[in-house]
Amino acid sequence: MIPYSKQFLSEDDIAAVVAVLRSDFLTQGPEIPRFEKAARQFCGAEHAVAVSSGTSALHLACLAMGLGPGDCLWTSPITFVASANCALYCGATVDFVDIDSSTYNMSPEALKEKLAHARRAGKLPKIVVPVHLAGQSCAMEKIFELSREYGFHILEDASHALGATYRETPVGKCEFSDAAVFSFHAVKMITTGEGGMVVTNDAGLAARVARLRTHGITRAKEEMAGGSEEDWYYEQTDLGVHARMTDIQAALGRSQMRALPQFLSRRREVAAWYGELLAGSPYGLPWQDPAAASSWHLFILQCADAEARKRIFAAMRKGGVGVNVHYIPVYRQPYYRKLGFPAGYCPKAEAYYARALSVPVHPGLERNDVESLARMLRELA
Ligand SMILES: *Cc1c(COP(=O)(O)O)cnc(C)c1O
Repeated sequence: MIPYSKQFLSEDDIAAVVAVLRSDFLTQGPEIPRFEKAARQFCGAEHAVAVSSGTSALHLACLAMGLGPGDCLWTSPITFVASANCALYCGATVDFVDIDSSTYNMSPEALKEKLAHARRAGKLPKIVVPVHLAGQSCAMEKIFELSREYGFHILEDASHALGATYRETPVGKCEFSDAAVFSFHAVKMITTGEGGMVVTNDAGLAARVARLRTHGITRAKEEMAGGSEEDWYYEQTDLGVHARMTDIQAALGRSQMRALPQFLSRRREVAAWYGELLAGSPYGLPWQDPAAASSWHLFILQCADAEARKRIFAAMRKGGVGVNVHYIPVYRQPYYRKLGFPAGYCPKAEAYYARALSVPVHPGLERNDVESLARMLRELA
């Protein structure tokens, strides 16, 4: 089976993990700050906080931005459920902004219109979570302008977009946001098995996330309410969770970061090969915003229609190709339907979903693999 994505581990990665296993620290040792520094420097952000998953990164960033009961978070319906669930974990509500039909990302025009309505209704969002689908950045400058006008925080879900750029700067530099999160799940751009990261230029936000990942406990005098000079003294100042990354994972992550440039260039090659080999076919190819350079976490085709997608999906799977669909609109999940979201809530997202097909893209693919995948796709079209 050729999977739609997979991890790529080297002997160096394995050696990095083994070295931690032989060291004094398995968790919260020296590898955590080293990995955080590597990620921060790669993105050009001032602060990075490693956590146990992309989902924890979203959850803790929301908590650190003060999201709670009575607040609302808006995101795209075309995402993994975690981008919306993070609001519910905080006791807030969630709502969805329809996508742009060419980028499949949150539409800034739809956002603008929804904000105008929400202001009249007195129900503006506290946080907007743009999701960089497949690794292509959202139109961040427009979303940022709207945030100035309407006063919401921006939390980028960059789970797909480590290594992507927007206006020539790395996603994660947070030029147009308060914070961004990455996921290091096995299928993502680099992996730590499970893992995530919050990057931000806001020192206070980073400190709150760091405290919340370890129960809301601090040992820093300046963060304490009372305080004591005793060395054993610590304080729990907030209700946090346990979402720490281990040193084992951080060592793997830092080693994987070194391979990221090669991963990126091969993913970009694979995407270009698909573009060349499927040109003029019945498939809709992913449109690229000239302001953004995708990291190509996913390569998403649009089949001719819903029937074709169903048929091609089944035939590709039968032929040993792990095609996939990203994503079912979040509000169509039974849990969200119960919250009152009707079918057809975001018409552009539904039209996209009906025809979407993710084909394999990962650093292990060679030209001849992509040639045979493209041949299969053309025959089935
Ligand atoms: C993978 C992913 C997440 C969650 O990351 P985990 O590390 O699996 O918790 C969140 N959002 C998107 C868009 C993702 O693809």
